[in-house]
Amino acid sequence: MSGLFGICIAKKNKISLATLLTGLVSLSVALTLTILLLASYQSNKQSLFETTFALNHSAATKMSHSIDSLFQSMRSGLAYTGTRISAGDLSDAQEIQKQLESLRLGSHYFNSIAVVDETGLVRGVDPPSVGTTGLYIVTEAAKEALALKKPYISKPYTSATGRLIVFMSEPLYDKDGIYRGYIGGSLYLQENNILNMMFGMHNFNSDGSYFYVVSSNGHLLFHPDKSRIGTDGSANQVVQKVLRGASGHDEVTNSQGITYLAGYSPVLENGWGVVVQSPISVVYDELNRNIRAILFYTLVPFVVLMIAAIWLARRLARPFVALANLAGRLSKGERVVFPNVKRHWNREADLLTQTITIALSDLQKQTEQLTHAAMTDSLTGLTNRRTFESIMAQWTEEKYPFALIVMDIDRFKSINDTYGHQAGDEVLKHLARVVTSSVGPHDICCRYGGEEFVVLLPLATVPEALITAERIRAAFETRENPLGIPITVSSGIAHYPSHAPSAEMLFQRADHALYRAKEAGKNRTIVAD
Ligand code: GH3
Ligand code: MG
Ligand code: MG
Repeated sequence: MSGLFGICIAKKNKISLATLLTGLVSLSVALTLTILLLASYQSNKQSLFETTFALNHSAATKMSHSIDSLFQSMRSGLAYTGTRISAGDLSDAQEIQKQLESLRLGSHYFNSIAVVDETGLVRGVDPPSVGTTGLYIVTEAAKEALALKKPYISKPYTSATGRLIVFMSEPLYDKDGIYRGYIGGSLYLQENNILNMMFGMHNFNSDGSYFYVVSSNGHLLFHPDKSRIGTDGSANQVVQKVLRGASGHDEVTNSQGITYLAGYSPVLENGWGVVVQSPISVVYDELNRNIRAILFYTLVPFVVLMIAAIWLARRLARPFVALANLAGRLSKGERVVFPNVKRHWNREADLLTQTITIALSDLQKQTEQLTHAAMTDSLTGLTNRRTFESIMAQWTEEKYPFALIVMDIDRFKSINDTYGHQAGDEVLKHLARVVTSSVGPHDICCRYGGEEFVVLLPLATVPEALITAERIRAAFETRENPLGIPITVSSGIAHYPSHAPSAEMLFQRADHALYRAKEAGKNRTIVAD
């Protein structure tokens, strides 16, 4: 039986149902969460990239258009003033000065404006502090503009006064169409100029985004880091693209190793390029913030789900654990009180609990009945010979002192013969009652077999056993029996350990004493020698 129930009892090293269910729920939720996070990370990343690219490209396009129209205005400003000057006398220094000043202060397009005649002589400069009036031009750009006789825009270069300059000019033609020189305006790139005024001195955004403008040879004309203005930026792939006239967006790593998401657009009027870019770290920071928020909001239901799963799993496993415990106790031979089984909300658990509890309870009843039947004599209800022998064996093994009375009804065969077997049985039952009522509460009465009875008297001495035996004998002799005729009993007494060292020998000694009682005339008690 213990083998059968052993299967039901949960072993410590096996996974419990609660753990299993909790594990399964955790695994599925963790997987779902991971997939969710990965998916939202990817889509978030893509949309953030696209948005940043689109914003930067649109900003670059707007700025290139602004610069484009600015340069058209600058050019027409120069051309207009140039027409007025070439219509007059180039040697009228005062008039030239007036015209230049009016253009410069009226528009703020240029940091300085100069008029140079066809010989390269500077006829006027505003502001006059530049101090080149009356001198001949020296810079390559000025010479190139003079020789070109066409609208001209220079690459950034360092002027005679040490300034980083971009220079643009319009040719001067008189009314006869004769070339008279040019009018040129300069932008001082590293000082306050029209670009700064338009786009602001500080174009550094708090998130690290900024823009820059490159000239047609890739040199920086405008940059938040002033020290970089005038330096060559043509190694940058985005600069190369914008100078090829392309407009778009790209991921680019700058000279400092920082990766940016850049939008770019060319300025058609002067061949320059505008680049607006945001560090990629901004996008990733935003992405991390989003993912953390998602994680935070999904973690709460996740934890709730986990707690619910653990609770549910335990509730589900509880009846099975209780059943296993019950069966385990039963298999150990414990007497189990079967509680009123609570109904379980889970159909399988409920069915199993009900069925198993009923089965176990029946099993216990049957076992008890069988055990009782195996231990008792069916006719008298006394303990039987098997039980008597096992008790005696146990006591002798434990060296537990006791006395033994063996008794036998006198001339029982003749009772049977005279009154019949059934009457004989009634006499046997009567003796059983007499014996039971004549002994102490701890004494054990057994029917040994036939019409022989034994009494085990724990811790009794020989004289005490003799008193008990005599009490039984006298009661049996005097008390009225079912047949109403005189019936007697003879007894033999032996004591453990004083009469014999073992159970078998002790019984032999008592039986021998009984034999002697029969020999001596029956209806008496004799103690072993
Ligand atoms: P003694 O005085 O020497 O003991 O003589 P006795 O007749 O009692 O001796 P014996 O052992 O020869 O007889 C025992 C009889 O008990 C024999 C048997 O028929 C009868 N007997 C044994 N078991 C039962 C039983 O369960 N019921 C009945 N009615 N008789 C039984
Ligand atoms: Mg007999
Ligand atoms: Mg007899």
